[in-house]
Amino acid sequence: MKIFVTGGAGYIGSICVEQLLEAGHQVTVFDNLTEGHRKAVDSRAELIIGDLQKECDIHDAMEHARPDAVMHFAANALVGESMENPSKYFRNNVYGGLNLLDAMVAVGVKKFVFSSTCATFGPPDRLPIDETLPQRPINPYGESKLMFEKILRWYDEIHGLKFVALRYFNAAGATERFGEDHRIETHLIPNVLKVALGQRENVQIFGTDYETPDGTCIRDYIHIVDLAQAHMLALGTKESAFYNLGTGGGTSVREIIATCEKVTGKKIPVVEKARRPGDPARLIAGSDKVQRELGWKPKYQAIDKIIESAWAWHVRHPNGYGD
Ligand code: UDP
Repeated sequence: MKIFVTGGAGYIGSICVEQLLEAGHQVTVFDNLTEGHRKAVDSRAELIIGDLQKECDIHDAMEHARPDAVMHFAANALVGESMENPSKYFRNNVYGGLNLLDAMVAVGVKKFVFSSTCATFGPPDRLPIDETLPQRPINPYGESKLMFEKILRWYDEIHGLKFVALRYFNAAGATERFGEDHRIETHLIPNVLKVALGQRENVQIFGTDYETPDGTCIRDYIHIVDLAQAHMLALGTKESAFYNLGTGGGTSVREIIATCEKVTGKKIPVVEKARRPGDPARLIAGSDKVQRELGWKPKYQAIDKIIESAWAWHVRHPNGYGD
């Protein structure tokens, strides 16, 4: 198939592009390279540099590529930043996404895979978080993704645009060639690995007084290649659907740090800090629906395997993509 990938120069997008190419698909990447990196785009893919906020950029690119399906990763995705600058999140994630959908409608592209998030749920009433729980986001990032989910329902009903929205939990890990390199790194695992590389002195633990066994937040870490597999399975569906995507396992911040120490053989000094605003204590995915309906099965269940793959990439790319 011909797949048009927005945000294909970013962390998750770049690895999905690689996996799509490995599976024999033809890929066009559309990215403005503000968060993404040119070197993260697999050389077998076509790269169009453009901005989703500019209607003509995305329309021309869609017209040129005329894909069978679109995978949409281009978005801002930091909870903390969204609490300081909501406008950026609504503009990029909602308005930018809308321009993309309108370009698809204009060119007649009917298949869409959306990178959504567990942040659309907010703090859950129960665990695991399956698709039946109410969505009550507590930050503009989660709200922007939920707004876009709602827009998708209407584009299906009115324009017949079939979508699959995948609500990820915590993406982690790397392949041999592509990994996680954010210009400003806020995520736990890459920050711990930077300490192991000697690039940071310590890692901060945001909150040690949560109601969890060791007092730190629990997250469901999913390997990036498993996530990419779910996107490819989504290409084969006929009906629109929403799926939560995680392994169903929970790992605390302290357990992540201990596993990184084991994997890297380095001592990781920690500094205990106050809670980070907007962080729920536990987020664990109920992924039965995606397993049942798409036949998705995560290959990487163990957190040490996920961290090993991330560490191997960081050791080979100590300065990330170097830009
Ligand atoms: N976290 C932390 N120190 C860091 C970065 C993150 O303690 O330097 C915590 C954060 O508060 C959250 C968990 O680690 O409980 C995962 O955070 P991350 O930013 O990696 O992903 P998020 O869950 O926000 O998408």
